[in-house]
Amino acid sequence: MSANELSQGVHNGPKTLSVMPTFTCPAECADCGTVSSPRDRTNLPLDTILAGITQATRAGFANVVFTGGEPTLRWKDLLAAIAHARGLGFPTRLVTNAHWAVSLERAGERLDELLAAGLDEINYSTGDEHARFVPMERVVHATIAALERGLRPHVMVELREQRRVSKQDVLEHPLIAALPAEERDRIHINESPWMPLDPSRVERYPDGLVTNRANVGVRTGCDSILQTYVLQADGRIGSCCGLGMRIIPELNVALAQGEDFLLRAIEEAENDFLKVWIHYKGPEKILAWAAEKDPSIDWEDRYAHRCQACLRLYQDPVIARVVREHYMEMVGEVLQCAWLDDVHIPEQLGETVKVNPRCASLPKVAPATSAEMQQ
Ligand code: SF4
Ligand code: SF4
Repeated sequence: MSANELSQGVHNGPKTLSVMPTFTCPAECADCGTVSSPRDRTNLPLDTILAGITQATRAGFANVVFTGGEPTLRWKDLLAAIAHARGLGFPTRLVTNAHWAVSLERAGERLDELLAAGLDEINYSTGDEHARFVPMERVVHATIAALERGLRPHVMVELREQRRVSKQDVLEHPLIAALPAEERDRIHINESPWMPLDPSRVERYPDGLVTNRANVGVRTGCDSILQTYVLQADGRIGSCCGLGMRIIPELNVALAQGEDFLLRAIEEAENDFLKVWIHYKGPEKILAWAAEKDPSIDWEDRYAHRCQACLRLYQDPVIARVVREHYMEMVGEVLQCAWLDDVHIPEQLGETVKVNPRCASLPKVAPATSAEMQQ
């Protein structure tokens, strides 16, 4: 669905370049959002990583995130890429399962190297699936080592109804519980729904998390699509950092080849009205809208994670038909949202719409999205 005439350059806010140096991971979580495993040996050459980061300076990017697979498996290349990004003025973030933090001492050594390369922010992932392969203690070691070095750690914990590892378990671990209260308060822990990669599977979550008619009104647009571009280990560029990215072919918008592949990716993504629609309205609202057109579409009380709703949107042929036949009815409303969010409101607030990625006073790196965790 081309919407070139409708959506040229609609999203003007700062963008994030997410780099996946490898699809390899020492873990093999069920429903891993990036389908990573110890057996997948796909690696992105360092030259391509560095070229992508260099291109990001002229394509409106504001920060660089390293994720995976497990990015620390490419240790030397990771340090080189962080240093390159920092040298170009980008704040940097690492998303890791902390498998390397086998002791407090080892965690400290690794963090010293990351900080020396210029790392600004670190996110650890844990939960029932992760802990089958990487003990939660390693996240605890890595958290304490970060605090000791003045780095505020972010921890993402899988959320489902029945589980053995929760936010409370992290906080009550003896090494964390023994910290002074002001240090514990500096740990940012977030719980995020752990979603099945199959849109027809219904996971059980604590009350109030799944989307239905009563709460779909407060579901927001997807802040990842058109904002985060992912340089993946296989050289494809994704137009979001979401869990559907490796599974939904339409979310891959360019190949990391030749000059200006990031600019090509942005142009391709913004020329697709469905992506613009998802960005401003979110997949849950689109599902609800499609079900009004065709009541056979069963969507309520199934999805707590927006990416699972998005998988349904892209994979269900009935929904695809409704979108194809009726999307023009939504063009005006979506473009009005785009104008309000990206032009009118920033102007009223006196904000600069374009962010210079070389600017030393860049905004603080935003916390990782929930989508960054299930990977
Ligand atoms: S909802 Fe998830 S999969 Fe869909 S575009 Fe947003 S981040 Fe990507
Ligand atoms: S969810 Fe994270 S830790 Fe688990 S297999 Fe995927 S990349 Fe590895």
